[in-house]
Amino acid sequence: MDYHKLAELLFPHITKTPDDYEAAYPARNLADGAKVTRLGPSPTGFIHLGNLYGAFVDERLAHQSGGKFYLRIEDTDDKRFVEGAVEIIIKSLEFFGIRFDEGATMEGDIGSYGDYTQSHRGEIYQCFAKKLISEGKAYPCFLTEEEIGEIRNKQEASKQNPGIYGKWAVSRNLTMEEIEEKLAAGMPYVIRLKSDGDLSLPEDQIRRITVEDAIRGQLTMPENDQDTVILKATGIPTYHFAHVVDDHLMRTTHVVRGAEWLPSLPIHIELFEKLGWQPPIYCHTAQLMKLDEEGNKRKLSKRKDPELSLDYYRNQGYHPAAVREYLLTILNSNFEEWRIANPDADIDDFTFTTEKMSTSGALFDLNKLNDISKDVLLKICASDLFDFLKGWAMEFKPELVHLFDDRAYLEKILDIGRGEAKPRKDHIYAQQMIENISYFFDDLFQIEDEFPGEASADVSAILTAYLSGYDHNDDQSAWFDKIRQIATDLGYAAKPKDFKKNPDQYKGHVGHVSTVIRIALMGRQQSPDVWEIQQILGEERTRERIGRFIA
Ligand code: GLU
Repeated sequence: MDYHKLAELLFPHITKTPDDYEAAYPARNLADGAKVTRLGPSPTGFIHLGNLYGAFVDERLAHQSGGKFYLRIEDTDDKRFVEGAVEIIIKSLEFFGIRFDEGATMEGDIGSYGDYTQSHRGEIYQCFAKKLISEGKAYPCFLTEEEIGEIRNKQEASKQNPGIYGKWAVSRNLTMEEIEEKLAAGMPYVIRLKSDGDLSLPEDQIRRITVEDAIRGQLTMPENDQDTVILKATGIPTYHFAHVVDDHLMRTTHVVRGAEWLPSLPIHIELFEKLGWQPPIYCHTAQLMKLDEEGNKRKLSKRKDPELSLDYYRNQGYHPAAVREYLLTILNSNFEEWRIANPDADIDDFTFTTEKMSTSGALFDLNKLNDISKDVLLKICASDLFDFLKGWAMEFKPELVHLFDDRAYLEKILDIGRGEAKPRKDHIYAQQMIENISYFFDDLFQIEDEFPGEASADVSAILTAYLSGYDHNDDQSAWFDKIRQIATDLGYAAKPKDFKKNPDQYKGHVGHVSTVIRIALMGRQQSPDVWEIQQILGEERTRERIGRFIA
């Protein structure tokens, strides 16, 4: 077979050579040890936590080493393409602080290793497919869907591995005349790799590949034997081929991707070998897992777990710094220890390493994220929190934008209890924060809890006495002395322990009385310090709320 002739026959329009591309995309001029990483999301409209998890690894590896991190849009699967999805990817990642140095952006490509959108790179893939064909390392395959189905049935019936390989790869043996005939008849075809692998050998003779994975260490697996499709009938490459060609030409040094790609690693290694290229260093990340209700570890699922979608965190209003901090705790096992030793350090000062990454499954836990978020938000000043909340409300709750009319008022609210030695940790995410502080706003204020049973008959009497003695200028202790006095006057113990000792002598204790006041003012049994809240609410609003309950 004259492979050169075959290559020309199949790709007459491809005039550039591999050398042209090698020259157009030369080795990057970076310092020794600088890593080049990429994120290759598919524009399916769904950007998930796994993308962000991987993006973090990419970003840290590149930026810690003075390297480059770029965004490549992997849109070769046209069935999954969703309009506007590229925008979603770019915006979501930007929100979480992922900075790319080059690649696809909203304003077009940046960088000299593009085009960064796979669907625009058709000629490049075809050029390298042509090269493989001209060297007898790939071939056109004319098998139809039905024929492939029949092959699968036969393989199943005889318990052989599925796929097109060895004797099943019948198009390997076509003569030039047969190929010409089929092409003339307009038969569709794909381009397949002509694999050298053989898994039909006795077990101990099967050749194995060894790959040093930066996260998993040495991986040894049987070589590939599949004549994998590299170009589909449409001329569009499969993931396998696009990955190999792009990561070579874009001079990627480290490929960070999910563990779901491990089974196809032998294909990629064979492709790199056949093209005469050095493979990158692979970093296969662990699957994101969660504990289900029964306490079993399972994979996060798109269908069952809304928290898998990055949109979830934006809708709920998690602060990007909290999500970053949390992801690092699941990414690197020594991060938490580092954080305890360096509570105020910039997160980027932590030295991230692939060796400290889990290989067995990274456990994702919303409660833990919430705990971390509380600590992270504590370090963000009220003015920045205000801006963050307002930005969130403008995007997700425009009906609440009026809450931001009075900056000073809201900043005081956000700061309640945060200056103390043991500060309050009330804030977790925007949605929850707004619910938490809603009583400060008359249009959101409502009575949510019931008055305590011990004092429910005296609500009006308690609040009447409270209002008549109310002096907005009282300090905290003068203010509480008055509540104690009201309690005593109305038959409540001034101290809870007196009530506990002699419950028959009192209607209740001072705590029940102050809960009545709390509910009148805040609508809730639990809240931060009442005196402090009144100072923020102001005298007028305080009197008005108490007055509502006076008959
Ligand atoms: N487009 C692939 C995906 O979304 C990317 C895998 C890779 O990073 O190589 O899963």
